[in-house]
Amino acid sequence: MSVTVCLADYEKNGTFTRAQLAELLSDPGSDTLELLRMKADRIRRESVGDTVHIRGVIEFSNHCIRTCAYCGINRFNEKVNRYRIPIAEIKAVARGAANRGFHTVVLQSGDDFFYTAEDLADAVAEIKLTGMAVTLSVGERPQADYQLWRQAGADRYLLKFETSDPELYARLHPGTSLERRLECLRQLRELGYQVGSGFMVGLPGQTIDSLAGDLLLLRELELEMAGIGPFIPHPGTPLHVAETGSVPMTLRVLALARMMIPWAHLPATTALSSLSADGRRLGLTGGGNVVMPNLTPLAYRRLYEIYPHKAEVTATPDQLLAETKTLVHDLGRTIAQDAGHGRRLATAGA
Ligand code: SAH
Repeated sequence: MSVTVCLADYEKNGTFTRAQLAELLSDPGSDTLELLRMKADRIRRESVGDTVHIRGVIEFSNHCIRTCAYCGINRFNEKVNRYRIPIAEIKAVARGAANRGFHTVVLQSGDDFFYTAEDLADAVAEIKLTGMAVTLSVGERPQADYQLWRQAGADRYLLKFETSDPELYARLHPGTSLERRLECLRQLRELGYQVGSGFMVGLPGQTIDSLAGDLLLLRELELEMAGIGPFIPHPGTPLHVAETGSVPMTLRVLALARMMIPWAHLPATTALSSLSADGRRLGLTGGGNVVMPNLTPLAYRRLYEIYPHKAEVTATPDQLLAETKTLVHDLGRTIAQDAGHGRRLATAGA
């Protein structure tokens, strides 16, 4: 099956089969990448429009009970200086974001049970008073916690499935399973969250076929948002000798993700900008419609080192916001003036 046939089938069916995805992922041509990026850009414009949504991320704790083999803040990495931002300070940072005109904040952390469900519910409820949308990304927690946060007003939850290959998942996450991750995603869906997930590109042991599976899973989960970034080996992890995920492959996967879930919010990820100075622009011109500037107070920012050489560890929120505005403007696009709530269907234009 040729690239042209795959794309002609897509025009008819609005989706790809696993074999077609594998074909498009393995075709080595850089002109195929450019073709996919152009298609993805057109589909992005038709389905979610020209606005770019800005989500401010607050990384409030790098403590973690998990042992994810790729992640620099996994609990076995003893070299990490661990920090926790007190709830009162999280609220203050969020208020600052609201004052700067942000419409969404994302509260992210390691899986840190020091913060009780009530603590985070309190933070969510107060941040909601600013009128912003609140996304939580604090890992696997009991269903009752997810429920409490939803009742407190949390709008969205971001929990990447990381890989759709159950064996690779089990190798990378000792003691837990893909099944458990998917169960969390189901619970979040049932509670009425807008659900974000996603995966890494270039994980050691990942194959073209499993990447095709990752793209199919995005669609099966009917996600409102999906984060797709390259794997970046961290020296303090068991995967420190592994190869870095490739930027062109990540861009190819991002373009295909836009085609698989046209309605979704897709960020130009920080991991992509960490590998390429041009990462944000490449993400936004190849299917992406979201940028997530880092609002973590500078005193902590370097310490949330899930991978090395992370972009944006020194710029202030105002600088990041200004850079994003310039980029979006240069691309002839506009910054969204609303919360940019997610949709699950490809109908109804922007
Ligand atoms: N504890 C939360 C937040 C995890 S950190 C959770 O489990 O959901 C956010 C994301 O960073 C992860 O989902 C993963 O996709 C990404 N990440 C972690 N280590 C990485 C690495 N070495 N390279 C690239 N991305 C990484």
